[in-house]
Amino acid sequence: MKNLDQRNQIIEYSLKLNSTNLSPLRSGNISLRGMENDIEGYLITPSGKKYETLKPEDIVFMGLNEDEKNDQTKKPSSEWRFHRDIYRNKKEAHAIVHAHSPHATAVSSHGKPIPPFHYMIALAGGDDIKCAEYATFGTEELSKNVIKALENRNACLMSNHGQVAFGNNLEDAFELAQEIENICHQYTIALKLGQPKILSFEEMKKVLDKAKNYKKG
Ligand code: 13P
Ligand code: ZN
Repeated sequence: MKNLDQRNQIIEYSLKLNSTNLSPLRSGNISLRGMENDIEGYLITPSGKKYETLKPEDIVFMGLNEDEKNDQTKKPSSEWRFHRDIYRNKKEAHAIVHAHSPHATAVSSHGKPIPPFHYMIALAGGDDIKCAEYATFGTEELSKNVIKALENRNACLMSNHGQVAFGNNLEDAFELAQEIENICHQYTIALKLGQPKILSFEEMKKVLDKAKNYKKG
């Protein structure tokens, strides 16, 4: 089978979505940039299948220029549009994790960006974490909103829905999604105590400069 290693990796991380409580049951989806028959595209989880039942052949290859799936025997994730558009817009994106993680989803229902109440906000690439405007799942409109919220960022919330993170590989994208969930957990606790103190623009600029070298050591 073509791209067997990548297909198995997607299954491994799909199972982790459940086992780490990042996304329960069939929720969320995962993709990896790849090539098949000299076509540039991505491999993505199928729609509506329980992760524990996934087999390599269930993972769907989609071309980057493909607007609809021609092979109707395989149903890609309903969110293939924003996966495709992230790969089209972000050269550095090689893997994407979308999750309905509990705290990120709760915070997303407020439809507001998360301000820098903690310096780790910088992990998403800037001095706040944006929240994509709500649109029905699986739509072009949702994809447009996600791309907007990901401007100069590598993760965002999706209003009344969850979160999405991308990275250079699946390990990094998954870790970032876990960090976003953790930040949202901390934020919900901070909000219970009142209005948290927010770090200044100057301080976040320092953090962002420092963060560039953080993982290099
Ligand atoms: P799929 O099973 O179609 O990927 O849908 C899950 C999801 O999270 C939709 O937003
Ligand atoms: Zn979803």
